[in-house]
Amino acid sequence: MINDAIRICLSENIKGRLKLRNRIYKEVQVRYGVASCLPYCVAEVAWSIVKKHKRWHRKPFAKRLMFKMDAANFSLNYSILSLPFRKGERVLVPLRYGEYQRSFLGDKTLKRGCVTMTESSVVIAFSKEVPIEEPLRRVGYDLNEKSIVGSDGTRHDLSEVARLHTLYGIRRSRFYERHPTDGRLKRKFASSRREKERVNQTLHRVSTLIVEKARANKEAIVLERLKGIRYSHEKGNGEGKARRRRVAQWPFGQLQAFIGYKARWAGVPVEHVSPAYTSKKCNFCGSINRKLKLTDRSWLCPCGAMLDRDLNAAINIARRGKIRCLGEVRPEARGTDEAMKGNETTMAPIPQAEAAKSSLQHLP
Ligand SMILES: [Zn+2]
Repeated sequence: MINDAIRICLSENIKGRLKLRNRIYKEVQVRYGVASCLPYCVAEVAWSIVKKHKRWHRKPFAKRLMFKMDAANFSLNYSILSLPFRKGERVLVPLRYGEYQRSFLGDKTLKRGCVTMTESSVVIAFSKEVPIEEPLRRVGYDLNEKSIVGSDGTRHDLSEVARLHTLYGIRRSRFYERHPTDGRLKRKFASSRREKERVNQTLHRVSTLIVEKARANKEAIVLERLKGIRYSHEKGNGEGKARRRRVAQWPFGQLQAFIGYKARWAGVPVEHVSPAYTSKKCNFCGSINRKLKLTDRSWLCPCGAMLDRDLNAAINIARRGKIRCLGEVRPEARGTDEAMKGNETTMAPIPQAEAAKSSLQHLP
């Protein structure tokens, strides 16, 4: 049904989800004899596929069997999911789930969203209203290959991720030496599923810790905007081949996405700022060290400050944040660079800093 809808959408050059819905409504219903709410769901999914593929420059096509339906049309009694199917017929799907899922199903304060079914799983979305309180302070996080470092000095080790990528990379290349063309064996022994699962485990653990801490201490989370991170690691930037490969594999986006949705669920504000020069700029005097190499873990600024590369970057990221914090005095809301130049912090060894402009007392 979805591929039918996609075909109609492309051949008649339909622009817009609602237009597609109105166009296919009768046709799908008559051709497949399905309940009247199904064409709506079909149009929804078909349109999202068409839109996504436009961006990827690929021919849109639904490859896997899937089924998506909004909250109004399905019901869930205990563990039986009831979905509309043909006219006057419903399909009952018994669900198996654990304690964690049960806690969501039992929570009456949650609003039920849509249900998505694939051949092996059922995903039910839940939503809730979370009051967002004004945070007490902003904490920036600098993500690098081996760790994520907070501007308050917290540090989470992520070397496990790099280790897993190397481990599975070696395994895969050995496998291809022996079986260069066997697709069946490849799916069985060289798939990246296990690798992804193990990497995600680490990312989930770290993102949960970060969000939990932010909620407990009323912090806002500031992250780097990731657009173009691959671009900045292109060939010819002085990095080695091995490092470039590791960076290309590194799931920066995944970790940010985990932090993002967990924070939204917990009512913790998150914002993304420009990552330009965050590690090269001294957080005391604002001068930029253009000679800083990737291998330099710490550096001495001409102003006399000894800077830890990651912590310095995290502090710069936190300062670029614009989320309003409780009791904060920010004379110049305009911005990133000028506003923070004169900010003095408690341990600043800078004679020329203007103490009066201080506005970010929370930063170390
Ligand atoms: Zn400096």
